[in-house]
Amino acid sequence: MTDALVLGAGMAGVSAALMLQRRGWSVALIDRQAPGRATSFGNAGIIQSEAVEPFAMPRDLRSLWKIILGNTNDVHWRLRHLGPHVGPLLSYWWHSGGSRYRQAVEVHSALVARAAEAHAPLIAAAGAESLVRRDGFRVLHRTERGMDQEAAVAERFRADYGVPYRVLSAAALAKAEPGPEQPGSA
Ligand SMILES: Cc1cc2nc3c(=O)[nH]c(=O)nc-3n(C[C@H](O)[C@H](O)[C@H](O)COP(=O)(O)OP(=O)(O)OC[C@H]3O[C@@H](n4cnc5c(N)ncnc54)[C@H](O)[C@@H]3O)c2cc1C
Repeated sequence: MTDALVLGAGMAGVSAALMLQRRGWSVALIDRQAPGRATSFGNAGIIQSEAVEPFAMPRDLRSLWKIILGNTNDVHWRLRHLGPHVGPLLSYWWHSGGSRYRQAVEVHSALVARAAEAHAPLIAAAGAESLVRRDGFRVLHRTERGMDQEAAVAERFRADYGVPYRVLSAAALAKAEPGPEQPGSA
């Protein structure tokens, strides 16, 4: 007999099904297509223990105007497809500010702090150790302004949530990530 039906065999559904199984439940995991072919197929593959604050919907007019005009990579939208998304978008807007957002951050950051630790047994069970790097990831900026803004956020995350980070100079980065030899550079 099945104790639980889990709908959707992406990262969320598979994890939920495995955790239920571990607690002794019998689980049926159902998907309308092959497992792991939707969003979980095409992401960046980072176990984001640094992403302590969920992405809030931008509320400043400048960012919203850029989205409306299609002048950003963040959102791609078409008026004719907007209808069914209006309700969820309004809810996203509502929960992206004030005490509602602070409450979301509180819950989210506590979950995210456990991300690496919670994935470890799944990685081991899948025999996927060799696919996982544990030395973090690098974010590159073309401008000093962008770099300074990112460093300020990183420092806030370190102070508030204990997320470690390092700022690399261009020389240190070139050493850590040597590119191919340029013609005539030898
Ligand atoms: C470009 C990109 C990069 C990202 N990079 C990262 C990253 O580096 N790190 C990170 O942590 N997150 C990242 N994310 C986010 C992460 O990929 C998603 O949060 C995660 O994959 C969502 O998993 P899910 O199981 O909720 O959804 P999905 O993987 O989309 O799975 C949902 C499943 O439900 C099925 N389904 C839907 N409707 C039905 C139905 N009616 N009946 C049956 N089955 C149904 C679908 O077929 C699908 O298989 C990224 C996302 C994107 C788009």
